[in-house]
Amino acid sequence: MIEAEFRPHIGVLAIQGDYAAHAAALAEAGAIPSLVKTPEELRLDGQSLDGLILPGGESTTMLKFLERHGLFEALKEFCGMKPVFGTCAGVILLAREVRNPVQRSLGALDAVVDRNAYGRQVDSAILHAETTLPGGPLEMVFIRAPRIARIGPDVEPLAFREGAPTLVRQGSLMAATFHPELSLDRRVHRLFVEMVKTAKTAKAARAR
Ligand code: GLN
Repeated sequence: MIEAEFRPHIGVLAIQGDYAAHAAALAEAGAIPSLVKTPEELRLDGQSLDGLILPGGESTTMLKFLERHGLFEALKEFCGMKPVFGTCAGVILLAREVRNPVQRSLGALDAVVDRNAYGRQVDSAILHAETTLPGGPLEMVFIRAPRIARIGPDVEPLAFREGAPTLVRQGSLMAATFHPELSLDRRVHRLFVEMVKTAKTAKAARAR
């Protein structure tokens, strides 16, 4: 018997930034996206939402909104329960420590992150680099990108820019300092969708 392909439900934090591009990329990568603006939409009761993307944008603005609308604590809890993928400002939100300037964060990803680390002239760039993903060089779009300055022992780097990791994975967390949703290549979103499917299957197996 051929089973219909399972499409996980993945939320995109939709406060500010390029969440719409992420939702479109998720749909192309085989997931069912939904926009998340409230703690209720995170569905911490475990129903429906299988994973979450924290998009790029302005992390300070996002942080203020999260704190004001009771989303900060809810997101922290979600990070311990389900797969989460942070891109650009999303990495800043996920990190254990944020510098330049110091900023509060969710502390889920064992990494030290420097904001706006690539200077003014080069604060936006499109680079191509080999990664651990199969399929050849990956396009990476950097927009006033942060730099991952340090990672903990459980964090696996999958791609680099000038020696600093640009794509990392720590268990069911993934983080990219670039914007994979702005490229046509869907390998990064497909990897996250696969992580979400694996986490969901493992959870279902444990519950049996
Ligand atoms: N410079 C932004 C910040 O510090 C991040 C930029 C981005 O997400 N494209 O929050």
